Amino acid sequence: MKKIVSHLCMALLLLFCLPQCQKQNKIKIGISQCSSDDWRSKMNDEIEREIMFHPGAEVEIRSADDDSQKQIQDLQYFRDNRFDIILVAPNEAEALTPIIREIYQDGTPVIVFDRDIKGDSYTASITADNVSIGKLAAQYASNILSDGANIIEIAGLAGNAPAQGRHDGFVQNAKESGLNIIATANGDWNYERASQVTDSLLLVYPDVDLIYAHNDRMAIAASDVAKKHGRRSEIKVIGVDAAPKIGIQAVADGTIDATFLYPTEGHLLVRTALNILEGKPVKRDIVLPSSQPVDASNAKILLRQNEDLKQETQRIIRLKNQMDAYWKEHSMQTALMYAMGVILVLVILIFFILLKTYWARQKHQAELESQNKLLEEQRDKERELNEQLTVATQSKLRFFTNVSHDLRTPLTLIAEPVQQLAEADNLTPQQHTLVRIANKNVKILHRLINQILDFRKYENGKLNVHLANVKFTPLLREWTDSFKVLAQKRHIKLTLDIELPEDFTIALDIEKMERVLFNLMSNAFKYTSENGKISFMARMNDSALEMKVTDTGQGIPAEDLSSIFDRFYQVDKVHPKGSGIGLALVKAFVELHEGSITVESELGKGTTFVVTLPVKSVEGVDAHENGMAKHEEVERELGLIEGEKVEQDESKPLLLVVDDNADIRLMIRELLKDSYRIMDASDGKEGVRLASKYVPDLVICDVMMPVMDGMECCRLIKGEVSTSHIPVLMLTACSLDEERTRGYDSGADGYLSKPFSNKMLRSRIENLLANRRRIMHLSSARSSAGGSTEGNIGADRNSNRKKPLNSGDIDNDFYNRFLELFDKEIANPDMNIDALASNLGIGRSQFYRKIKALTNYSPVELVRKLRLEKARELLTKTDDTVSEISYNVGFNSPAYFTRVYRETYGETPGELRKRLGR
Ligand code: ADP
Repeated sequence: MKKIVSHLCMALLLLFCLPQCQKQNKIKIGISQCSSDDWRSKMNDEIEREIMFHPGAEVEIRSADDDSQKQIQDLQYFRDNRFDIILVAPNEAEALTPIIREIYQDGTPVIVFDRDIKGDSYTASITADNVSIGKLAAQYASNILSDGANIIEIAGLAGNAPAQGRHDGFVQNAKESGLNIIATANGDWNYERASQVTDSLLLVYPDVDLIYAHNDRMAIAASDVAKKHGRRSEIKVIGVDAAPKIGIQAVADGTIDATFLYPTEGHLLVRTALNILEGKPVKRDIVLPSSQPVDASNAKILLRQNEDLKQETQRIIRLKNQMDAYWKEHSMQTALMYAMGVILVLVILIFFILLKTYWARQKHQAELESQNKLLEEQRDKERELNEQLTVATQSKLRFFTNVSHDLRTPLTLIAEPVQQLAEADNLTPQQHTLVRIANKNVKILHRLINQILDFRKYENGKLNVHLANVKFTPLLREWTDSFKVLAQKRHIKLTLDIELPEDFTIALDIEKMERVLFNLMSNAFKYTSENGKISFMARMNDSALEMKVTDTGQGIPAEDLSSIFDRFYQVDKVHPKGSGIGLALVKAFVELHEGSITVESELGKGTTFVVTLPVKSVEGVDAHENGMAKHEEVERELGLIEGEKVEQDESKPLLLVVDDNADIRLMIRELLKDSYRIMDASDGKEGVRLASKYVPDLVICDVMMPVMDGMECCRLIKGEVSTSHIPVLMLTACSLDEERTRGYDSGADGYLSKPFSNKMLRSRIENLLANRRRIMHLSSARSSAGGSTEGNIGADRNSNRKKPLNSGDIDNDFYNRFLELFDKEIANPDMNIDALASNLGIGRSQFYRKIKALTNYSPVELVRKLRLEKARELLTKTDDTVSEISYNVGFNSPAYFTRVYRETYGETPGELRKRLGR
């Protein structure tokens, strides 16, 4: 915007300056006249007239008034003011030559006119032909005088070039015409001097017929003097120059008899100057021709013409002035018009800019308003959502509370019998383990329900603390000691550091404080893996009790730290290990004690919780010991239950259980160990590793697990040659179809929703294994149906080779590659199973289990079957001898071949041939 306005201002300025600039760019012609006589004023008039026709040029005329010094100054003025060309009529050649040369040599063109200078330091010279004028004057004199007439010559300045020319021409012609020049005297071009010399001469010469003066002024002087002497009638007077006001007027008046036109040609001067400046060819020395004499016969006409010309010139000048004025006015008006135009454009532009700014502001404001509105709407929505959430949370809590209340009674009714059962001594080891699992989880459920109820109470402001003075040191030691056994079993280094005096007493609600510590400690154990460290420290800090639980576990991401004390908040929403209510309750309990709790944590490094409690005492209430949290209790709830080790029977199918919950793993093991061999893994990654190492008959895999989830685990098992045939049964707590579809996409063979019963689990496993067996049998049946002559396992090799077992592309591909290798090696009696396995890219035992799973034969059995099958084919289709065939299919003894053949097919190769009539 600023830029546009400044550009427009510039344009405006230029517009106003333009006429000025044009004026300054005119060609400047400087004219220096030596004097200001009538002749020169005529010339000046001509110059002024001519310049009017050249609007691109201007002229300045200066007169030196016959003073050479002044003329030098005039020339210097022209030079200093950088005139483009200088025209000079030098007063005296001698005096003016140096300055003219100087100017010329500086590069300014110089035209010398009317008179000469010394040398040729000029661009051009324009002079009249004075000799011719002299001659003309003599010729005129001879015409009006008789032979031998006497003539007095009044010459110009001595040494002056025109004077010399006028003299020479006159003398030359006068002599030829027989005229006598009786005297020549210098009148110095002026009247006074001419009068003096004429006066003297007339006194000396009584017989004079004509006075020839070099100019009209001197001629008039001579005429006046002759008149004074009373001799005017007998003496003719002629002059030179014929300037209108002096010479021609004098002739017309009869003051002198004739004059000779000395050409002024002012217009020629101007044109020559302009031609030089325009670079047109110009003659260097221009000589103006002389013209006819002016005498009584034409003087009046010439005067009249001159007068007319003057008037005409005046008119032209007036016209020009008018035109100039009009032009000026026009220019002014045009400039004004342009200026108005520019101003108008500017105004319109500014108007538009303002309008645009206004629009932009309006738009911006509208946008802001709509954004504001949107924000407000969002805020309202958020508020509404918040309210809904609060209501939902409240009703959720209410629901939980109600349910928890309802659950409490049945739970008590379960807990007690389970507890009794757990202590019974007539259970089988398996029953014992299962009851322990039940017992542990009943406890967890119990604690959870208590937490929910407490939390609800807290939220309703109904949770009270029952403070009592407690001897805290032994109590703390007892509580924390109870984690020692657990730490030992979990291979966690537990450090307990209680820096409190033995009799340290504090007012506490023992039960609540025990739960605070239990919660913090149990979290530390939950989130710290084997070989980690957990430490508990209690000490006085600035008269407050400070308890610190530090672990080297997985840590809490920074972004979750601030929300960790919110109810139901769990860092790992996918694989939660609890309910997310524990810490909220811990905080509530601590705050009920007017204490505070803080947390510091670094992901992957560990977590520290610090509880600070004010040390108070209450009047007269002493706590009686609370014997909770014995190590058995801690164990029961947090510890790992170990199942009884049983001898693994190699003939049983091998199952791999992949689940992050140890209790689930243990329960499945306990439930199935009588019928299956079981191995387990706590996450998907470990599951994949074990599957490819041991090639189990079936994998049971949880969907939600840390490190690698069940879907990924299943996809990897199904994508690996050695494990692709293994059926995978997914366990899920979620019964959504979408999840099932994802599971089936990853290759899962079946689904089982939690909770599941022993019966359901067994039947799904058996089904999957039976399916697998059926596929093998189907395959065997199909191959047998392919022709009793060829029938063998997977051996409809011609038709079914590409799809031998119909169990996925990986299995097809594997089996085809096996058959190709076998074909190549068939004649080799020492065909090496290890070599076959490594050629197929898997280990020996994996190869064994894979072949067994795919064909129900061990590799050795399969190879023998395939050899015999090939032999049978050769026996039927070729005429090779039995022993040839036996070698061709890799038996190194025909007798052994015959025996094995008969064992398999119930007839010897010979009998077969006989039967077929071959
Ligand atoms: P929960 O019953 O799920 O353990 P809590 O309220 O006790 O619920 O804890 C909330 C969350 O804080 C947990 O889900 C867990 O992710 C995180 N957390 C608590 N204690 C620890 C700890 N010692 N180390 C790592 N994470 C912890």
